[in-house]
Amino acid sequence: MDKSVWQLKQDLCEIGRRIWMRQFCAGNEGNHSVKVSDDRYLVTPTGISKGFLEPGDICLCDDKGELVEPNQKGRRPSSEIKVHIAIYKRRPDVKAVIHSHPPHATAFAIAGIPLPEGVHPEAEVFLGKVNTAEYALPSTQELPDSILPLITDTNNTVLMGNHGSVTYAEDLTGAYYRLEILDAYCRMLLLTKQVGKINILDQGQMKELLEVKSNFGMADDRTACVDEGCIGQDNDKFLTTFGVQPATAVADKNNGQVMGTSTEAPKQQIDKAQLESLVSTITEQIVKTMQG
Ligand SMILES: [Zn+2]
Repeated sequence: MDKSVWQLKQDLCEIGRRIWMRQFCAGNEGNHSVKVSDDRYLVTPTGISKGFLEPGDICLCDDKGELVEPNQKGRRPSSEIKVHIAIYKRRPDVKAVIHSHPPHATAFAIAGIPLPEGVHPEAEVFLGKVNTAEYALPSTQELPDSILPLITDTNNTVLMGNHGSVTYAEDLTGAYYRLEILDAYCRMLLLTKQVGKINILDQGQMKELLEVKSNFGMADDRTACVDEGCIGQDNDKFLTTFGVQPATAVADKNNGQVMGTSTEAPKQQIDKAQLESLVSTITEQIVKTMQG
């Protein structure tokens, strides 16, 4: 049974509280919405913290983003409602959208570092490929225009250059889970850099993961093109710009190459004993030359 408008307003308040508690948004940042019918949306208001929302704060808007009834507390809908409506119109299956500024994920969008593929199973199954839109001025039509080309038939998360994230799903909980998983994934990447090395799954392992995802009933655009090598195309740029080395260079069974990375030969490691032997040989030669 569909939820009542009152229940949806309560859900928006509860998700707002979680977003604020997890520090995905500071001050009055961020906004989220649910689709009530073909041309009616419940949207969080502008200018107040998402941690302190009450049902009376939530705005009911039409598909132009205009209030269709006076808000109980005189609130105005978020100025980013254009982003939400653009996504609802592009993807009729989407019923909830969350725009947020999760710090770990936003750090990548600020640094211009693409998120890699083939690193963590949860990210691959629940997020899939996450693209980053060019920076666009907030509160203008530029913002939805920058995001829309990156919304595919099945994806659920897009990063916004120098800004934040947008996650969308069939319900509010689903959009919130994507937000949590996105920021946890980016936190793992940052910790991995501290540890020093990164393992990237090979094409066969990614293919297995996409099969598991398919068995869960979750669609992924990449399933159709995994055999043509469509996965990991940004991994080279990620490794270069993030400044982390592949660990054991899990070899792609087909071409002996880490998925999505170049074929540069691994640097030879010299151990202490070899170094001492080398120094000793050179020293002997120098002494011989001097004696000669
Ligand atoms: Zn924002």
